[in-house]
Amino acid sequence: MRILLVEDEAAIANFIAEGLQEEGFAIDVAHNGREGLRLAVDNQEEYDLILLDWMLPGASGIEICRAIRKVNPHLPVIFLTAKDTVDDVVFGLETGANDYLRKPFAFEELLARIRVLLRSQTGEQHIFNYANIELDLDIHQVKKDGVPVSLTQKEFALLELLLRNKGKVCRRTRIIEKVWDINFDHDTSVIDVYINFLRKKLDSPGKPSFIQTLRGVGYRVNDDA
Ligand code: CA
Repeated sequence: MRILLVEDEAAIANFIAEGLQEEGFAIDVAHNGREGLRLAVDNQEEYDLILLDWMLPGASGIEICRAIRKVNPHLPVIFLTAKDTVDDVVFGLETGANDYLRKPFAFEELLARIRVLLRSQTGEQHIFNYANIELDLDIHQVKKDGVPVSLTQKEFALLELLLRNKGKVCRRTRIIEKVWDINFDHDTSVIDVYINFLRKKLDSPGKPSFIQTLRGVGYRVNDDA
């Protein structure tokens, strides 16, 4: 899952970005309103959620939220702001934001709200299975044959994408969009490296890999188990 964070205070932006990366999200950070507006509108199809500071140089969070709503009515938006009067909250939600978090907030609360919004987008599902493999988003754990398997954040995010799209092809460009971020250097061979990591950790000996390779196109986990 890929998130755009628009926040001009570097310390807050780093704190949020690092925390979310540890949870397996791909994060793009915009440090001013203009950059945030451009990324939000140009890349809206690549983002699963947007975190928006309210007061920003260049363009305000409100302006950005309105611009997002014009091009994408369903993209989840959470305001992060020090503004906290009831009027501000109502105004923020009326511009089309889905939720509102007052600074300072605990990272765990932000994470919980992100998960709630993403889940409402994806139909409440938080456990994804394939045969003997299970991925639980709520506790951020993967099991094989009921035994926890340790995955890196990128491995986890890649597996989540494949299992969410079980039966469908995950194209290489889509994998890059959803698992890596804007700083990705476009050497897509890194995808194959991570697919191999997942196969080593999760395939069953003597059986075909649970991840199918579609040469030049992408990867797929079949919908037959
Ligand atoms: Ca600010």
